Amino acid sequence: MAVQHTEHGTTAAAGTDSVSVRGVTKTFATKTGDVSALEAVDLTVAEGEFVALIGPSGCGKSTLLRLIADLDTPTSGTIEVFGKPATRARRDQDYGIAFQQAGLLPWRTVAANIALPLELHGVPAAQRKVRVAELAELVGLTDFADRHPDQLSGGMQQRVAIARSLAERPRLLLMDEPFGALDEMTRERMQTELSRIAAETGAAVVFVTHSIPEAVFLSDRVVVMSPRPGRITQIIETGFGKDAARDESLREAPSFFDRVTAVREALHGVPVPIAGREER
Ligand code: ADP
Repeated sequence: MAVQHTEHGTTAAAGTDSVSVRGVTKTFATKTGDVSALEAVDLTVAEGEFVALIGPSGCGKSTLLRLIADLDTPTSGTIEVFGKPATRARRDQDYGIAFQQAGLLPWRTVAANIALPLELHGVPAAQRKVRVAELAELVGLTDFADRHPDQLSGGMQQRVAIARSLAERPRLLLMDEPFGALDEMTRERMQTELSRIAAETGAAVVFVTHSIPEAVFLSDRVVVMSPRPGRITQIIETGFGKDAARDESLREAPSFFDRVTAVREALHGVPVPIAGREER
């Protein structure tokens, strides 16, 4: 297998799945007894694939994302990221993370916020400058590089957070409701931007959302979960293809409404056969 070398050391072999979750359970011990957050979860995310996790509150979406990010450990089962144990992938900075709150440092400019991970990992100043300029351009914030977060709208702050998560060219992005706090119009614009960025960088994305249209618009596959205990109940392929334009025409296409209906019915527990759907 071809092993790639980067400035952060050795990464996984090319062609390896981005994420592999096998037989994962997660139980939290609480004062009132054990809470089974996840049970028997199996999920594989291919390289460059966009997968949304959707389900009612408490079905374990965030828990699953946190386990993949190695922010917590499974009670049983295994999680690999690019063929490595999750802990190793975290140490190697194999992925970028973006959560609902942009989490920017208010005293730093946009450029300095984007540069933070590069600084922390000792990337020389000249290289940082070039990379930050590229990233600001990618998220459309070139003219705002010298502003501070409190001078930006919520959508712009989220774009800074996305630029920061992309700073080290991760082949995987883990995102937990990154657009949850935005108004609907901004949210739709951000979805278009994110799908463009994911396509341009070739990064795989695992994206937690409550929104059915958001999940369908962005994803190659929508993973539907149910609570108590959190399980995957259905996986729906959108079938739009990598080259399909994620723009306003998709939002108005019959195939988009078909998939929205399929995901809604899956959330309500009705299995829906869809042409081209495959379980992986
Ligand atoms: P979702 O993201 O789908 O809303 P979560 O993953 O946050 O769901 O939570 C799944 C279940 O696990 C819920 O019942 C939640 O209360 C429980 N849970 C999550 N984190 C903890 C924790 N640290 N301690 C105890 N219970 C937790």
